[in-house]
Amino acid sequence: MAIKDDVVGFLQSDTAIDKVNFEFDGFQVYPSAYKTDIAEAVKKGRIGVRIDTALNEGAGASYDLRYNEFRLPPGFDVSKDDPASLLLHEATHAHMDLQAIGSVPRERSEAIAYVAEAVFRGAKGLPPIGGPSAEGAFMRRQAASMAAGILAGGYKVPGQAAGNLMATLRNEPHYIKQTEDDGPLMPFNGVPGEP
Ligand SMILES: [Zn+2]
Repeated sequence: MAIKDDVVGFLQSDTAIDKVNFEFDGFQVYPSAYKTDIAEAVKKGRIGVRIDTALNEGAGASYDLRYNEFRLPPGFDVSKDDPASLLLHEATHAHMDLQAIGSVPRERSEAIAYVAEAVFRGAKGLPPIGGPSAEGAFMRRQAASMAAGILAGGYKVPGQAAGNLMATLRNEPHYIKQTEDDGPLMPFNGVPGEP
């Protein structure tokens, strides 16, 4: 099966996505964003899926705002938990782009995506990616404790906890994947094509 079909199949059918439903700092994340909105956009080719051979095998996934595409490393296997979690994280950014929410401070966009990733993993009974020594470990543990609250029925992430996670991200920019053209704002300027 082509990687695009794998991505669509994952978004439409992974049951842990049904639990990814919360509000963080006024932004709403909900299952149909992935299962319908992003899945349809990928199916129709509005959002691309590309294996980037310049990436090392095992490297993280990314969502490229300029080209409106997921960029995945060679060997990416969405049937495995960690790649699936990273794709879910990136799909959270893609949904912000699909909604054309405009420029968002990087720490806010990342915090939301990390909490979505953590809820997804929590719903599967998985610990944060990589354990304590992994890149982003502290922030992923913070996100995991918020995810536990969400999975226990708390819809809104409490403002203070949300603020703490964004502060962590602002103060520890090495936790955020950066490329040379990444600024402090992420421009979610929309995805061309008909829904
Ligand atoms: Zn991210």
